Amino acid sequence: MIKYTVRTAHPHRHFIGFEAEFISTGRERITLQLPSWRPGRYELGNFAKNIRAWKACDASGKELKFRKTSKDAWLVETAGSSVVRLTYQYYAAELNAGSSFLDEEQLYINPVNCFFYDADNPQLPYEVALDVPAEYRVATGLQKQSEHTLAAHSFDQLADCPLIASKSLKHLTYEVQGVPFHIWIQGSVNLNEQRLLQDFTDFTELQMNLFGDIPCSEYHFLFHFVPYFLRHGVEHANSTVITMGPAADFQQEHLYKDLLGISCHELFHTWNVKNIRPVEMLPYDFTRENYSEQGYVYEGVTTYYGDSLLWRSGALTTEEWLDVVHDHVQDYVNNHGRLNLSVAQSSWDTWLDGYVAGVPWRKVSIYNEGFLIALMCDLILISSANGAASLDDVMKKLYDRFGKKSIGYTAEDYLNLLNEMGVYDFASLFDSFVTGTEDYNPMLREVLAMAGVELQESPSSKWSETNLGLSLDESNQRVLVSAVVPESPADVSGLWYGDEIIAVNGIAPYKNVQHLMRMHAMQLELAILRKGKRVDLVLAPTGKTWVTKYRCVRMSSPTSQQDLVWDSWKTGKS
Ligand SMILES: [Zn+2]
Repeated sequence: MIKYTVRTAHPHRHFIGFEAEFISTGRERITLQLPSWRPGRYELGNFAKNIRAWKACDASGKELKFRKTSKDAWLVETAGSSVVRLTYQYYAAELNAGSSFLDEEQLYINPVNCFFYDADNPQLPYEVALDVPAEYRVATGLQKQSEHTLAAHSFDQLADCPLIASKSLKHLTYEVQGVPFHIWIQGSVNLNEQRLLQDFTDFTELQMNLFGDIPCSEYHFLFHFVPYFLRHGVEHANSTVITMGPAADFQQEHLYKDLLGISCHELFHTWNVKNIRPVEMLPYDFTRENYSEQGYVYEGVTTYYGDSLLWRSGALTTEEWLDVVHDHVQDYVNNHGRLNLSVAQSSWDTWLDGYVAGVPWRKVSIYNEGFLIALMCDLILISSANGAASLDDVMKKLYDRFGKKSIGYTAEDYLNLLNEMGVYDFASLFDSFVTGTEDYNPMLREVLAMAGVELQESPSSKWSETNLGLSLDESNQRVLVSAVVPESPADVSGLWYGDEIIAVNGIAPYKNVQHLMRMHAMQLELAILRKGKRVDLVLAPTGKTWVTKYRCVRMSSPTSQQDLVWDSWKTGKS
């Protein structure tokens, strides 16, 4: 048993105090390890950078010698002491769904950020005492020995159970098929609670029906509502943390739908990634990168179901669902990394630059392309089987054969399950679009048509995009190049990401750069600033459309086969 006490003195400093007792069991030295990343964010987090005042003592309080053996590992000389008493402070000043945060209102901990484990014995149980004001309530998926004393049977479980302790926590509950679901709300927010509970019950029921059961005995949604814009969720085995804002605006329909979307997505992860795990992440190795090419399954399929199940439950209208689909098509087409790096390679590279824009034309998003791959697979299965099969069946098999048995799946396992449905051979589709970089558009057009949905195209309403292949960011009183289409007039002229346009044919733009460019289309001369130097460029539109806008619209007179696929897609019944 590893005993931990968590202190919250001087909360305005944002340092959480930790005291821990590790048993040395006769070892001359023990390695105390802090995770270098957190599941859900497949890149190094380097949490050790937030630690100060790290000290190890023996039972009598005498300091023990130690040295670091990696950026996250401390090797302590036990000097014969039966216990190693560890104290340190963790700087918790960042509030997002995967961080830890302390102030005068709350203690919020993601234990994966700031708890150590005994590198020789990660399976030891933990007891965590929270030294917080008596009136604080605690929201967490951990077992409670008392309101402020929590228990975990291993480091893996502790690391996977975030907690919020606060006196202002609001608590709602609902139940589906005998399983209790808790909604904890930190931060004041204007929500229609009855509607929220109904919508949550509906998507939870659909997910449990899809998989047959849920791999936890209860589930906790931990919400942080903040006054500023924030949209972030992180999945765990029996809980999720979702941070959203601005809190005052949740009466707006689109923000409420966003909240449902992220919640449905995170709950789906309870099966898809927390339980159904790529073989490379079973078990998690917290000391280093856990590379996997299957992001199109663990994030892509989850993103697809996060929204499609809301359409199936009725929380999203058909129009809203088709908006989601064409927004994904748009993001895909706008990303010129799609012809350079496959979604499988981009999944591997989340460890390199997966959560920032990265360099131009390099990589794709596992969420975006993964959504489109899942959509292709679902519609092909439904159509080929005349409604008798769908991606639901594949996910259920993945759960039964891998998740429930704690067996990690490989890319081949997933492909084999798709093929096992016996209605379509997905091998060449995966070669082209998962491990390859072929253009998705013809296939997307084809699969959407199977459900009687037309992918309509029109030129972008922005003149520079349509005629020059040039996207501009005018949000900060400056006109900056935000995207350039390969081989477009913008590219050929020498314009590049980050260039600032200071004049169009000698005139400084004033919130009218599109208008100025259109006026001077015949002989377009741009003055730009690049790294402090002025550069003059001449551009010539070619008559070709360089940026296209996409819209999904239901066909006006679908065939009976298209109706059948549409109905199966919408009801999910097979
Ligand atoms: Zn996700």
